[in-house]
Amino acid sequence: MQVTFLGTGAATSYPLAFCQCETCRKARELGGKNFRKRASLLINTDLLIDLGPDAIPAMHAYGHDTTKLRLLLQTHPHSDHFDPGVLVTRSSLYRCVNSDLLEIIAEKRCLEVMADQVRVIESIELLEEKWQTDMHLTLTALGHGQRLSRGGYEILAMESLHHPGWGSQIYLVKEGGKQLLYAADSPALSAAALEALQGKHLDLAIFEQTFGPFHTGNTGAHLSEAILFEQLARLRAQGCLDEKSQIYVTHISHEGNPHHEALAERGASLGYFVGYDGLELTL
Ligand SMILES: [Zn+2]
Ligand SMILES: [Zn+2]
Ligand SMILES: [Zn+2]
Repeated sequence: MQVTFLGTGAATSYPLAFCQCETCRKARELGGKNFRKRASLLINTDLLIDLGPDAIPAMHAYGHDTTKLRLLLQTHPHSDHFDPGVLVTRSSLYRCVNSDLLEIIAEKRCLEVMADQVRVIESIELLEEKWQTDMHLTLTALGHGQRLSRGGYEILAMESLHHPGWGSQIYLVKEGGKQLLYAADSPALSAAALEALQGKHLDLAIFEQTFGPFHTGNTGAHLSEAILFEQLARLRAQGCLDEKSQIYVTHISHEGNPHHEALAERGASLGYFVGYDGLELTL
């Protein structure tokens, strides 16, 4: 399994556009891995997790052919994870030629909100068959705790408490004997998600760290490093993580997360890796 981090920033990207805090200034000065696009992940060449506003340009930048995408797993419809303006370009309204079939998999409520967002920018009804035919796509509602198989992938959807009213969920993807957890956006895993993961060995576990090691205050619907550690301990105790598991963080904001080198050094000493845009891993 080939995994490409297309973006590793939170909704605000990194550095924050108009912020002159010490972290953002340092990030601009250092450049390189300190510039983080909005988070999304590519698995092999055909499975995208989250069609965010930066996903397509990132695929171009890292040498991936966007026409090869066959599966889109959508975690939730927040604007940093779903760009309706990109999706509508599949329509004949945009003279899109010979697109191959794309299957969009998400929780039912997430699909409804995506359809609302598409309707706002274009007179397209995403839930109607007529438009699905026009855009050459299918929608599959996959509820929390449900699984399906597609083209060599086994996919398990699990509840995320990030934005339950909009059907937020996280995914376990298995392919070629390797298993990956993508848990962004998500605060601490819910009891149902932990139960679903019970005994499943994770070769790669990717968590969000919107708020890093130095954030003080409420972390709301996201994770800080301290909460991440509590979660890792739980996952180790129930057999999901061992010394062979690789743990990465993504969805990084300027709040409590220092510049990349400093965060990566800290992570290495504490047992996790820090994702950066364009990072490719082979499992
Ligand atoms: Zn987000
Ligand atoms: Zn800042
Ligand atoms: Zn979100």
